[in-house]
Amino acid sequence: MAYEPIWIADPDKLNKFEFVKLEKDGLDVIRTIIEKYAKEGYDSIPADDMDRFKWAGVYQQKPKDGHFMMRVRINTGIMTTAQARALATIAQLYGRNLIDVTTRQAIQFHWLRVENLPDIFQRLEDVGLYSYEACGDCPRTIVGNPLAGIDKYELIDTSEIVEEVNTFFMLNRDFSNLPRKYKMSISSNIYNNAQAEINDLSFTPAVKVIDGQEVIGFHVMVGGGLSAKPHLAKSLDIFVRPEEVLKVAVGVTTIFRDYGYREKRHHARLKFLVADWGPEKFKEKLVELIGELPTRGEDKTVGWQAAYFDGVHPQKQEGLNYIGLNVPVGRLNSDELLQLADLADQYGDGKIRTTMSQNIILSGIPDAKVNEVLQAPVLERLTPNPKHFMSRTVSCTGNEFCNLAIVETKKRAELVAQYLDDHVQLDEKVRIHFIGCPNACGQKHIADIGLQGALVKTPDGMVDAFDIAVGGALGPNAKFNQALKGRVKGDQVAQVLEQLILFYKEQRHPEESFFHF
Ligand code: SF4
Repeated sequence: MAYEPIWIADPDKLNKFEFVKLEKDGLDVIRTIIEKYAKEGYDSIPADDMDRFKWAGVYQQKPKDGHFMMRVRINTGIMTTAQARALATIAQLYGRNLIDVTTRQAIQFHWLRVENLPDIFQRLEDVGLYSYEACGDCPRTIVGNPLAGIDKYELIDTSEIVEEVNTFFMLNRDFSNLPRKYKMSISSNIYNNAQAEINDLSFTPAVKVIDGQEVIGFHVMVGGGLSAKPHLAKSLDIFVRPEEVLKVAVGVTTIFRDYGYREKRHHARLKFLVADWGPEKFKEKLVELIGELPTRGEDKTVGWQAAYFDGVHPQKQEGLNYIGLNVPVGRLNSDELLQLADLADQYGDGKIRTTMSQNIILSGIPDAKVNEVLQAPVLERLTPNPKHFMSRTVSCTGNEFCNLAIVETKKRAELVAQYLDDHVQLDEKVRIHFIGCPNACGQKHIADIGLQGALVKTPDGMVDAFDIAVGGALGPNAKFNQALKGRVKGDQVAQVLEQLILFYKEQRHPEESFFHF
């Protein structure tokens, strides 16, 4: 039965983009791109369909001169080597060899032209990958534990659950018109590898005794998200068995679709509805939709490792290891990805894993082969033993490609990390995140030191600058970082952070750490 939207009963409560979505479903643009725009070219694309390109996972690149960026979903961050090679080939053919790992475990291309898109969609589909709904007002890439299946610290392997939820929602027209973007995470890792608190809907590890039996399942949080008004997700008083994850995801997404706010774009994320309703009312509505669920059990999240995995680590399978590699500010080239695919095939389990810290993991390496892998030339730059600051620096795309950016971020972030590694000795690793505008794709709010792009007036005109905030963390002591007074010019960020970190090093209390478990 086709879904009947109940929220259009009051058209006065719809912002103007809602009418664009009503006039033509975002998903319809995929066919129009293939059948029309790819043949007729960039100039044939009207503005409203250009806005719908997001449902194909495609955005205009800055400056708006006919180039596009594309995001490809890597659900739970696990891809096969065939998929990795397809991605590398697309970057070689159409994307100037550039591959970015995003903070939602996705892969991002740049420099694409509309004429290239049908071939790219096909190459992705051929290996079971999709850019569809990686952007837009719909369920996006489902993030999760990149170590699913090999993790000593997960209660259960969540990869099949992620697959089930993804298969249900992707290209599902009952859920392709949500009030705003919608982000889910599913992980059973006890160190919160999927950054649960900043998702619209997250499933986290839990156990509960039901009918005398201990059941492994999930707790649920709703209403997390960053941007200008960041919210930590709130827990619902429910316990979810693994086989009920999809049912709960459908219920929560239905609530967002039907009751989420559509009046103002900046007030449309699920977090605003959850803040207004509170978790109790939200649970009542959920139970009304999907039926009773057990109340919460025992929470199994014990800390937060900020999705960092650098170095060699034993897997849950005896004799096998995974190797976490640093991808400086999340950017690599096609040749490097191809070399990693070769290593994964020759020595590992044929998988490459992306992390929410914009890094990569090789897995399934037998003890006897670890040293050989560590000698591979590609691991010189993508090293498992990165310097402290480079290892913990994250950056969004910034004004190199992003139309919303106020400042340049990625190159600057890399230079700042290099400078700090050359000038500051510190026994702990400080997480530094750069974002180019308040949208916070680089997840500035959860960083030890978060930098948000802005402009500052100087005698020579407006120049790039950053607002600085300190002390963010997720996990049991989750809190967003707090802004410091003042604004720092872009060319002074490295020196200011050097002073800030040295001040911290000299003044910290014996037990104090930037990073709280
Ligand atoms: Fe663009 Fe802003 Fe997101 Fe950075 S945070 S990628 S500048 S939208």
